[in-house]
Amino acid sequence: MVNHAKSNGEDLNLWNIVGREFDKAAANLGVPEGLLQQIKACNAVYYVQFPVRIGDRYEIFQGWRAEHSQHRKPTKGGIRYSEAVTQDEVMALAALMTYKCAIVDVPFGGSKGGICFNPKKYTRDQVERITRRYTVELVRKNFIGPGINVPAPDLGTGEQEMAWIADTYDALTPGQIDSLACVTGKPVTQGGIRGRKEATGRGVQYGIREAFKHAEDLKRHGLSSPLEGKRVSVQGFGNVGYHAAKFLSTEDGCRVVAVGEVDGGVYNPEGIDIAQLAEHRNRTGSMKGFPGGRMLDRPQDVLEVDCDILVPAALENQITLENVDRVRARMVAEAANGPTSPEASERLSKRGVLILPDIYLNAGGVTVSYFEWTKNLSHIRYGRMEKRLDEIYREKMVGALEQSTGHPMNERMRRELIQGADEVDLVNSGLEGTMQNAYREIREQFLSDPGLGDLRTAAFAVAIRKVARSYTEMGVFP
Ligand code: GLU
Repeated sequence: MVNHAKSNGEDLNLWNIVGREFDKAAANLGVPEGLLQQIKACNAVYYVQFPVRIGDRYEIFQGWRAEHSQHRKPTKGGIRYSEAVTQDEVMALAALMTYKCAIVDVPFGGSKGGICFNPKKYTRDQVERITRRYTVELVRKNFIGPGINVPAPDLGTGEQEMAWIADTYDALTPGQIDSLACVTGKPVTQGGIRGRKEATGRGVQYGIREAFKHAEDLKRHGLSSPLEGKRVSVQGFGNVGYHAAKFLSTEDGCRVVAVGEVDGGVYNPEGIDIAQLAEHRNRTGSMKGFPGGRMLDRPQDVLEVDCDILVPAALENQITLENVDRVRARMVAEAANGPTSPEASERLSKRGVLILPDIYLNAGGVTVSYFEWTKNLSHIRYGRMEKRLDEIYREKMVGALEQSTGHPMNERMRRELIQGADEVDLVNSGLEGTMQNAYREIREQFLSDPGLGDLRTAAFAVAIRKVARSYTEMGVFP
């Protein structure tokens, strides 16, 4: 199991890692010790074993749902299907959700769930049965509900699983008008929101864009603007890696020189066509034989290629003491949760590599989940009330402009100016603003206390201060 491995004296248990990062950031914040302990602890973990019929026999599955912090409700976080899921991992990922939500001002506590199995080894029917049964267990113990705990996709799960969860929850709690808000990341036709699927990748793009706006910071790290033309290497071609690679290459002019997955990867210093690679991978089931680049044999090669920005978008503990000295990027943009071990992170920082930390950079998913949850509770699509009115005002403005200049506008420009915002435009602008604000807050924290050392510790400090404030204002701690 990846997250319990030890190498070079490193303790790669994610729960311990998150705890150490917390302690480092908390050291000089002036938050009382008892309150720090309360914030750091995982409030509740539900462990369940349940049988599901697989073929002609029953198999027992192990599942967890951890609620790290209930200082805000509901608690929020994905559900992971993977053979590497353990209780420690689920607790650690739930803690990261608490800090992530605080950083981007999403008013939720942190949670995470998982079932220990590889969904690729089961049929769709079987995965449906496993998902529905797990949901029943969560309902039984009050570990799911629009005001209690709201799951979302994570590794090995997606829109389909979320739709099954919503449907099972609804069947078990009939007549609840808000029941769709019991889970996010649903298909758009089932109460989902446009832009949620690509949200984590979008957030990664917006976070990197924001970092590239601060020229003095970039200079300190041996980088320079613009973002355009930068060489990017992406580890992981799932929902997050794919969308980050796609947006950075098609919208920001980056050159994606390498993409890697568990079974190897592709390298092309001239840039990889992400749409073609996705098409090839979806058609053949692998990157092998892709004509648009040469193959990388080992899955870890993608971390070591010559590039400016490295985007680990797969699993935790990918950059460790074992390979950190071979990482050549000047920026590590952590799209995955916990991809860099603390020792490796320190080594990179010492070398002047700029790390955009996971608890900030991959918060796009939960940010748009928040938008989906509020959409479900308000029972109306974003933009429905105002879009037409917005267009009427814009038409008037364009008309006035044409009249005062005496020049009619060309049709394309007119259409662009008149178009009111759709749901996806609102979602993306809300996400972009969120990522910008959060980055600036972390940066200010970092600049005001250089002792923090790096943006990760500064991000933890921002999160701890916000959660501490929320407890204090609740009157729970003096
Ligand atoms: N699983 C995602 C994460 O790790 C999304 C969580 C959510 O939307 O609740 O941030």
